[in-house]
Amino acid sequence: MMRSGEGGVFLMPIYEYKIKDDGEGCAKCGTVFEVFQKMSDPHLERCPECGASIDRIISTPVVGASKSGLDARAKNAGFHKLVKRDKGTYEKSY
Ligand SMILES: [Zn+2]
Repeated sequence: MMRSGEGGVFLMPIYEYKIKDDGEGCAKCGTVFEVFQKMSDPHLERCPECGASIDRIISTPVVGASKSGLDARAKNAGFHKLVKRDKGTYEKSY
């Protein structure tokens, strides 16, 4: 999933975090915020701004511009995403 196998395209995962238990938080963690992290990086447990406890919501591998949330929304709505694997070949990514 994280490796495309096509010419070494690097997929940078986006992790989305939000403060736990709908706490107040700061301007950053009071809403969902995105963090680019390597796969090997530890997940954040605290807001980098105010130190409040945060939960990881989702991680979305993307290439290039962020379209974070689109896949999650589609998935939640019951849609399937077709990913072009090859010329004329598509495959369900979930
Ligand atoms: Zn915060």
